[in-house]
Amino acid sequence: MYDIIILGSGPAGLTAALYAARAGKKTLVLGGDQLGGQMATIHSLENYPGTPGANGLALANTMKEQAETFGAEVIFASAKTVSSEQVAGSSYKVVADDNKEYESKTIIIATGAKPRKLDTKGIREFTGRGVSYCATCDGFFYSGRDVIVIGGGNSALNDALYLADLAQSVRILHRKNSFSRGEQILVDRVDANEKISVMFETEIAEVGGNESGVAYAMTNKGERIECEGVFIAIGHEANTDYLSESVKRDEAGRLAPADLPTGMYVCGDVQSGLKMQVATAVGAGCDAAMDCILYINSQK
Ligand code: NAP
Repeated sequence: MYDIIILGSGPAGLTAALYAARAGKKTLVLGGDQLGGQMATIHSLENYPGTPGANGLALANTMKEQAETFGAEVIFASAKTVSSEQVAGSSYKVVADDNKEYESKTIIIATGAKPRKLDTKGIREFTGRGVSYCATCDGFFYSGRDVIVIGGGNSALNDALYLADLAQSVRILHRKNSFSRGEQILVDRVDANEKISVMFETEIAEVGGNESGVAYAMTNKGERIECEGVFIAIGHEANTDYLSESVKRDEAGRLAPADLPTGMYVCGDVQSGLKMQVATAVGAGCDAAMDCILYINSQK
């Protein structure tokens, strides 16, 4: 029986693990498929203080090792179900995709968010063959090619800038008439980058190609764009599928601390109302762990 099971190994989960283990609590991190969550896809972190330009995956490794130093166990498995009928004194049971059941007094949910999928003609067919939801993971394969990026938030701007270092040309398609959600520093860099062009008030209507992959995209205005890569960055959705329907979500599928059962805590991108930043995830991980530790101590 663990004191605390933490679901997720992004910056929120790993910070919670550090605090929990350092407080002497028997702590397990079920870290999902891979370490670091969304942070692991960030090539160079400019806005997390103290580590200018750090690679996201490298930082996640450091956070993991720091938590392990204090005794946290980290396993790479994902929760399939979590019992959520918690009454004082009873335990949580987590069934994971390694076919094991783990038991704990408390749960900290830090499972983050996944890229929102686009359901336009050809997108599903060409996903993995020219259509990608991760510029950092797949950008290398498009060195010297023409690519497009769909979306207009910070993720799309970051992806376009990352891809511009590799690709021959990058075209951003954004459905609005400005990057109203984007940070000004990113907008300015996109404007200044000669390899990047922008089509505002434009949506993608179809992606097409052949056996070797994507060859073109059609816009909703009937324009054909020759390209070999289509990178989609249209926002994120919270990862909470493993929780029962009885656990309340907000309209974006995220969880508010006040709505959770006794002994269950939430932090990071899956938390309702929290800005999706590494810095806020770290703060929320600390907050959730401290609340959780206080709760465990109050049950003695
Ligand atoms: P976001 O801010 O929600 O932006 C999503 C973008 O995709 C919006 O421009 C939206 O257009 C567009 N969009 C949504 N659905 C679409 C559809 N079906 N077709 C076409 N376009 C669609 O999401 P995000 O960029 O992934 O960022 C998520 C959070 O992470 C934000 O809080 C962001 O600040 C943060 N983040 C921060 C950094 C950084 O600190 N540098 C980097 C990446 C992400 P509309 O504007 O028309 O809705």
